[in-house]
Amino acid sequence: MNGAVLVTGVRPYGEAPCDLLIDGSVIAGVFDVALRPLVLSRVQPARVVEGDGLIVLPAFVDLHTHLREPGGSDQETIATGLAAAAAGGFADVFAMANTDPVTDTPERVAWIRDQAAAVSRVRTHPVGAVTVGLGGAQLAPIAELADAGVTLFSDDGRCVDDAGLMAAALSEAAEHGAAIAQHAQAHALAGAGQINAGFASERTGFAPWPVAGEAAVVARDAVLAAETEGHLHVCHVSTARTLEVVRQAKALGWPVTVEATPHHLMLSDDLAALGAPLFKVNPPLRSRADVAALRRAVVDGTVDSIGTDHAPHTVAAKQCGWPLAAFGMTGLETALPVVASVLERDGEVDWRLLNRVMHDQPARIGGLPEVADQQVRAGDEATLVFVDDRAELTVNAARQRTKALNTPFQGVTFRFAVVSTLIAGRQVHGDLL
Ligand SMILES: [Zn+2]
Repeated sequence: MNGAVLVTGVRPYGEAPCDLLIDGSVIAGVFDVALRPLVLSRVQPARVVEGDGLIVLPAFVDLHTHLREPGGSDQETIATGLAAAAAGGFADVFAMANTDPVTDTPERVAWIRDQAAAVSRVRTHPVGAVTVGLGGAQLAPIAELADAGVTLFSDDGRCVDDAGLMAAALSEAAEHGAAIAQHAQAHALAGAGQINAGFASERTGFAPWPVAGEAAVVARDAVLAAETEGHLHVCHVSTARTLEVVRQAKALGWPVTVEATPHHLMLSDDLAALGAPLFKVNPPLRSRADVAALRRAVVDGTVDSIGTDHAPHTVAAKQCGWPLAAFGMTGLETALPVVASVLERDGEVDWRLLNRVMHDQPARIGGLPEVADQQVRAGDEATLVFVDDRAELTVNAARQRTKALNTPFQGVTFRFAVVSTLIAGRQVHGDLL
């Protein structure tokens, strides 16, 4: 085992301390710390690294990343976006299709994959558009895109408003084992929405974005999923009403999965009502009751996955007054601290639950079963994230890897921080190894 590394005293899933032996790209052993003399009598690792109580988990999977390239490199580049992903503990990211040009041909899928592979080890999975040019009028070549390896389709940024197109998309994607990720925003109800309807819209005078604009689309799409046996994945669910619809659909066994974002789990519309465009996001920040319902839905399993909806923007696009400001927040580098904080109860975090919603389930929804099966155990790939749960991390946009400054958490201090990220044994972030 020349070159093997023994990381001592780390806690898989936050449980009892273990020594982790990493040999090349794989985990060669997960040993009780008391047995260290036995391990060291058999193995002479090239290095022994003090893990000092760090939590170790399989590295995260994000089904909802906006890398902005091609076409938006003033906001983010594939290189800066993937550096942010690595810093956030992500080994796999799904790059949304709303770029310029839109990812709606196999050639554009290949271009993104090639660009990403040239600059980062973070595994980049291009999302295919549902409709040509995100135009909402004509189905994209789903079969061709699936043949090119696309496992997730989405017009995210826009809703597939047309029920006929949505049904056709679900059917066709299902033939290729792929899911349709819907940005649920009924045009007639919420097309012009700027801020949560109710207190926030009344307080600010900005156009209301009502709960029904989301829940009604999810109800419709859940029926279409049941009828077509296609997999509906609901992006960034934000309201208690939508969760009621989803619970019904799941109870009936309909093929529906649901994503929540870290920001919707922590921030509410009273913050948005203060009027700073950094808090402008789509769907909007909702009421505190919705935030509480969303947290419960993560704990009870109604929410399947956390997706960051990392949406980098230029300073100009966010500093121009609320009505003109772009929707969106960065999220890759704050996802772990925010989600761990939200799940914390009496000082303890359910790391198994966090692993399910940030690794196992997103990997499975995204069509990566071999990634979903990876655990912290002997024989599995050393694609891991090391987390400090006694950190004092104050978010500073200027020090993040993302090119963009539009984090909503500027100046906020978290107890949780990503220390290091490994992909197949190679450190892609941090200096632990
Ligand atoms: Zn969206």
